Amino acid sequence: MSRSKPQHAPMEQFAVKNNQIWIAGRPLSDIVEQYGSPIYIYAKQHIEQRVRDLRQTIPPELSIYYAVKANPMPALIEYMAEQVDGFDVASTGELELALKTPVPRENISFAGPGKTREELLQAVEAGIVIVAESIQQIHLIEQICSASGSTAKVALRVNPDFELKHSGLRMGGGAKQFGIDSEQIPGTLELMRSLGIPLRGFHVFTGSQSLNAQAIVETFDKTFDLVESLLSTHPDPLHWLNLGGGFGIPYFPGDPRLELEPIGEYLHGKLPGFKSRHPETELVLELGRYLVGEAGLYVCSILDRKVSRDQVFLITNGGMHHHLAASGNLGQVIRKNYPVIIGNKVHSEQTETVTVSGCLCMPLDILADKVNLPLAQIGDLVAVYQSGAYGFSSSPLGFLTHSAPKEILI
Ligand SMILES: *Cc1c(COP(=O)(O)O)cnc(C)c1O
Repeated sequence: MSRSKPQHAPMEQFAVKNNQIWIAGRPLSDIVEQYGSPIYIYAKQHIEQRVRDLRQTIPPELSIYYAVKANPMPALIEYMAEQVDGFDVASTGELELALKTPVPRENISFAGPGKTREELLQAVEAGIVIVAESIQQIHLIEQICSASGSTAKVALRVNPDFELKHSGLRMGGGAKQFGIDSEQIPGTLELMRSLGIPLRGFHVFTGSQSLNAQAIVETFDKTFDLVESLLSTHPDPLHWLNLGGGFGIPYFPGDPRLELEPIGEYLHGKLPGFKSRHPETELVLELGRYLVGEAGLYVCSILDRKVSRDQVFLITNGGMHHHLAASGNLGQVIRKNYPVIIGNKVHSEQTETVTVSGCLCMPLDILADKVNLPLAQIGDLVAVYQSGAYGFSSSPLGFLTHSAPKEILI
């Protein structure tokens, strides 16, 4: 029996004209001529379309927050402020980026398993929602508030006893450094009452990079049940419930596209009942890569083409120091290829199997291993799809002291 090799999901986010990728009405070669390479290019149009499609599928009363960690490029954050309702930040650097935008401060939430006194002070002063992830953080917040006479907006990150199944990254369930175990939440609420800290809400984020709508629906359903049970003995209304998200995008051969419809359908069915019991609760979806990941392309130029014992190598001016995830070194157990093309020669009669490497003196510096690509020459452009999230800022840019790639939002 012959089994066909798994393929990448079709990448249709950028138009192809004259055998070139076009972004924002311009051919790739034009963009690279103007800005140089290596370069990360993020397309506003794609982000806008993604947010529009999402809003059409989910109930309108759900807020969408952007998780800045996915891509903190300042121009992109400014742009995202027009697209989404709020930001999830996880450091004071990210907080400062969010504070420069017109997004209301109560729509900025600050998560993170380790927060210093200085960071918490800055967050209290900024008036944002602090997502406390431990008892120690609550005590620190209380000390800051009693010293300054201010009140903090404190939500609790709950580590539930379930996880997001089939997710690429597990962020909840079992023993985790994130949040406070759900069985400790009643005691934590009591502690907050005794310290005079009102509860703003709950944050439940159990996993990331899920391509399975059913698993996401199941997690949301368990989250609603958990929250209802935690609230059954809590006297005050809940102002905020961050349901997390974990919506993934297809990176590797065989990855399907996440279907939004079942998630939208579930939420449309669930929200009216929840809202009638908890009318004051702002419900939040918090998404990173799903909003920006597919809008980004990483582009580098071919510096050399060589044949080593029958294997063809295309050696580029980019590599793992710019794009750790595409090289397979950001959390992958078995290396798989991102979707890669020759951006200025998308289709060709003549193709060959090549390994695309970066320019580092490191065997791990591979951008695509044994892929079939149009016959390419020195000066041609290798383009890596799905590079809008966890690219530039998740890479060891200082490694080997090459210069950093450019980043543009167009
Ligand atoms: C990283 C992170 C996200 C974003 O994850 P994506 O997979 O990019 O959507 C959202 N919320 C929290 C708490 C995170 O740590």
